[in-house]
Amino acid sequence: MPRSELIPSHLAPVKALYPANRRGFMGGALGLAGAMALPPLLARPARAQGLLAPALVPMRLSPDQLVDMKCCLRPLRAAGPNLSTETVGRKLVVHNYGHGGSGWSLSWGSAEVAVGKALSVLPSRIAVIGCGIIGLTSAIMAQRAGLHVTIYARELLPRTRSFRASGSFTPSARVALEGPAGPQFGDLWEQMARFSWKMFRTLLGLPGKPVEFSDSYAVSDEPITRRVWPVDPAITESYETSGLPRQNAEFARLDSRIRDIVPQAVPLLPEENPFPTPFATRTSQMHFNFPAYAQLLMDEFFARGGRYVMRSFHAPSALAELPEDVIIHATGYAARDLWGDRSVIPVRGQTGWLVPQPEANYALRFRNMSALSKADGIVIMNNNPDLGDMLGVGESMELPQREPLLEAMATLAGVFAGTYASPAQAAGAGA
Ligand SMILES: Cc1cc2nc3c(=O)[nH]c(=O)nc-3n(C[C@H](O)[C@H](O)[C@H](O)COP(=O)(O)OP(=O)(O)OC[C@H]3O[C@@H](n4cnc5c(N)ncnc54)[C@H](O)[C@@H]3O)c2cc1C
Repeated sequence: MPRSELIPSHLAPVKALYPANRRGFMGGALGLAGAMALPPLLARPARAQGLLAPALVPMRLSPDQLVDMKCCLRPLRAAGPNLSTETVGRKLVVHNYGHGGSGWSLSWGSAEVAVGKALSVLPSRIAVIGCGIIGLTSAIMAQRAGLHVTIYARELLPRTRSFRASGSFTPSARVALEGPAGPQFGDLWEQMARFSWKMFRTLLGLPGKPVEFSDSYAVSDEPITRRVWPVDPAITESYETSGLPRQNAEFARLDSRIRDIVPQAVPLLPEENPFPTPFATRTSQMHFNFPAYAQLLMDEFFARGGRYVMRSFHAPSALAELPEDVIIHATGYAARDLWGDRSVIPVRGQTGWLVPQPEANYALRFRNMSALSKADGIVIMNNNPDLGDMLGVGESMELPQREPLLEAMATLAGVFAGTYASPAQAAGAGA
């Protein structure tokens, strides 16, 4: 089949703007030696794999498609999630909160740890405080272990902060700071991440697709390399001195521990790249379709005889009124006030939601702006490349702002339309 028939017609003229693309991603200036010198992330496991660029249906990224905006606070704890136990009166409380930007991803593994601690005193019934993704998975894990479970919470999952996330498998996203978490946290994190991954694997291919994989493309007008954040010596403050992380180098980087089971990004050859950019990578990204997944979890909880009591707690001492003697505490960011845990740091984040487009079932990232097509909509994020993980740190304002989302949509739409400025074009315009 001629190459021209493989490129969507609206992209073909744009590709012609990029002679660098013709030289080949791994060929031309880089050549084989350059390819071999790439860091492991970008080394091709099997050259070309016989794949050609799929003719992707372009995403409709115009403002008229924007149907929702959501904002929420990631509950970051420098030491990582709190999974400790304590007694309140005669009750054993097992904490399970503070999962930063990783709550959906680590939920099953974290629940396994928390339920294991609750089981140590051989209860026949337990209470779970909170019904976000952490509380609900804790409740189900406890039921699967044979316990009777009552959830006490202000809101059920669809009304919680969890439902305002974006919803990909991102198990190490702003989950801890390297220094305060210490070296032992890596082992716990890996145990939770691997357990969760196995659980998610059991949820693939179900009706309604609660959990699924899709292709995720990162495209660029510059060679794509793994971003590293060296310590910036000019920044003298740190979490230790100020109670807030002050630079990206403070965040724990753990993903390499599970790269043997999680798909990694591979660079695309020009003939494999469906976009008009000279550089692209593709990976397979697992994501969660919130409505179907929430329904599945709620159905299991109630089918196993779970009870839900709508209740708001104002102090830990109120737990003494509950009939259960063992309690899993999973209130997420709210633990900062309810439990007085000032080590919970807000990390603000927001998403825009566009009309679902099931025929465009992939994700695109360009200059740290992203669009991920999910069953309940295309989720848009605008992440500042210079701020990295520091974006939103310490911010507790929970109202969404429209402008950054519109900017992300316009920038990504420029990739589809071929109207974004390449570095060469931008330089020419400025001359
Ligand atoms: C923009 C954004 C994108 C994200 N993307 C991802 C992602 O792609 N992947 C990922 O894994 N994670 C992601 N996260 C992180 C994830 O959303 C959180 O880690 C997770 O939602 C935390 O869940 P939780 O159950 O601990 O808390 P919550 O969802 O906040 O649930 C807390 C529960 O406790 C209840 N509660 C609170 N206070 C009280 C009280 N006083 N009395 C009674 N009940 C109470 C609430 O009603 C609720 O039921 C993202 C976060 C943001 C902000």
